[in-house]
Amino acid sequence: MEIDKPKMIAALEAKGALGPCDRCNTNTWLMLEEYAALSFTDSSKAPEFNESIVPAVALVCQNCGYILLHSTHVLGV
Ligand SMILES: [Zn+2]
Repeated sequence: MEIDKPKMIAALEAKGALGPCDRCNTNTWLMLEEYAALSFTDSSKAPEFNESIVPAVALVCQNCGYILLHSTHVLGV
């Protein structure tokens, strides 16, 4: 499923989350085309499918490669 970039950018802008890169202070973000899925599991077990998944949008700094994730659930998109 592809991300609705204009809607996602509007949501990030509404939250004041479109600032420069935390690592290199440039503003060269690239939003990836597809959702990222951050998975959490009980640390005493090996990860398995069907664990809890947090859907996220990934932004990649085109200068230093730093990657950050925003929860689409929190953003409401
Ligand atoms: Zn950077």
